[in-house]
Amino acid sequence: MEKYSGKTIFQGIAIGKIKFYQNEEKTVKRCRIEDTTEEVNRYETAKETAIAQLNELYQKACKEVGEVNAAVFEVHAMMLEDADYNDSVKNIIEQQNVNAEYAVAITGDNFSKMFAEMDDEYFKARSADILDISDRVVAVLSGNTKEKYNFDEPVILVSDDLAPSETVQMDKSKLLAFVTRYGSSNSHTAILARTMMIPALIGIEIKEEWDGKNAIVDGINGILYIEPEADILQEMQEKQQKMLQERKLLAELKGKEDVTKSGKKIKLFANIGSVSDVTDVLKNDAAGIGLFRSEFLYLQQDHLPTEEEQFQVYKTVAENMAGRKVIIRTLDIGADKQVDYLHLAKEDNPAMGYRAIRICLTQTDIFKTQLRALFRASKFGNIAIMFPMIISVDEVKKIKAIVNEVKQELDNAGFSYGNVELGIMIETPAAVMMSDELSKEVDFFSIGTNDLTQYTLAIDRQNAKLDEFYDSHHPAVLRMIQMVIQNAHKNNCWVGICGELGADLTLTRQFIEMGIDELSVSPSFVLPIRKIIRELD
Ligand code: PEP
Ligand code: MG
Repeated sequence: MEKYSGKTIFQGIAIGKIKFYQNEEKTVKRCRIEDTTEEVNRYETAKETAIAQLNELYQKACKEVGEVNAAVFEVHAMMLEDADYNDSVKNIIEQQNVNAEYAVAITGDNFSKMFAEMDDEYFKARSADILDISDRVVAVLSGNTKEKYNFDEPVILVSDDLAPSETVQMDKSKLLAFVTRYGSSNSHTAILARTMMIPALIGIEIKEEWDGKNAIVDGINGILYIEPEADILQEMQEKQQKMLQERKLLAELKGKEDVTKSGKKIKLFANIGSVSDVTDVLKNDAAGIGLFRSEFLYLQQDHLPTEEEQFQVYKTVAENMAGRKVIIRTLDIGADKQVDYLHLAKEDNPAMGYRAIRICLTQTDIFKTQLRALFRASKFGNIAIMFPMIISVDEVKKIKAIVNEVKQELDNAGFSYGNVELGIMIETPAAVMMSDELSKEVDFFSIGTNDLTQYTLAIDRQNAKLDEFYDSHHPAVLRMIQMVIQNAHKNNCWVGICGELGADLTLTRQFIEMGIDELSVSPSFVLPIRKIIRELD
């Protein structure tokens, strides 16, 4: 038996087999090739394999989701036969004496840019398809397959690191636990593990030879056991049972009000990243959704989600929540959440870079598509919208003007929509200092303590080395929360916390004494917090 210590991201115990996961290689290397004829042949073979994969996917999808939805795979296979595309790949190989992977990646980028610049919406949308087919051929050439996110049986996933875009594509029912070498407790992958209620450990020197071995993740004590001995296995199985018992006890609080003994009511909501998380929200009896990180929808796809695709998702969430509040945050792409198809330039300081509302206010077509989908979906439930990374009143005024334009366009097109509350996230010290003015502009604030702590303490939340300095109880952050609540309440603006601090059970009393109106936490924290609220005076 081997034993390793790491840092716990989500408490829980997982027992199962290890799957060693190799991260996706994003950069394609340029190599000099002497025999270009052989390289062109290598490309031809990879292309045929990619087409065969697509035909197989098409057949499978026809059975599972119907011919109309499966058609995308047929179109992709046809695109790979396109003469211009193929000529370009071969020319690059022959004229530049380079490897096929590089020629395909460059062709993919060039064609995708060309399509993106076209006026016709249909051709514009093909830009992402070109990138997708090129990625597929590059994956075949480099021996990777796109189906790597599917596992045959539930596994303990071991990896150097996991990007949020990789995590969201994995089948949650096949994940018993995550163990990674890198990553910090405030990263989005960590947040996803908590939301998905998957035991997770970080900071463990992982080894490829563990693949297929039996293991236990003890997320209570932060320990990973490889090939555990019988007595440890038994001890862990007993602990697992005990945790189930505790969950059962908490389950008795389902259906009870979130109210203190003196009658102060708290909105106890849950955070989600996708439609599938709604099941956990309902299972844990949250009174609403306080943060739907809509950008995960963008991370799950290889193209900008269309208005219709987004509308269906928001509508489903609103309908499933049956009248309970659903606060959807607009696109917060950037920093650790990157999508290839937006072609965002590499930045030295992405956390303080071109992200979130800054993208939306400069690429208003993307923003308006999302707003249209949100307002259309608002008719089917109780949707509220909030905007991330705000720093000024001017930004909020610009957002409101765009919202009004969208509403006007929907009116003209004959669409109806519900009464939608508008809010902003308080995640920057600037927003805290302007909260007296900002609260006159919106219906609610939601304090994003993950970023607020990062920007206040000047500590990169992604940097695992700084975890020991990332003091989430720092008085500066707590004073800011107090200040925001006081300023907001002067202007009838209600205030919640949706960052990870909201789930810190040692602070629940303090937040309620400060006057907080809402707490939005990972679904598994709803009942433990309800217990505390109901015990408070
Ligand atoms: C936050 O910053 O606290 C927050 C809730 O947003 P995210 O974690 O997605 O950046
Ligand atoms: Mg944030």
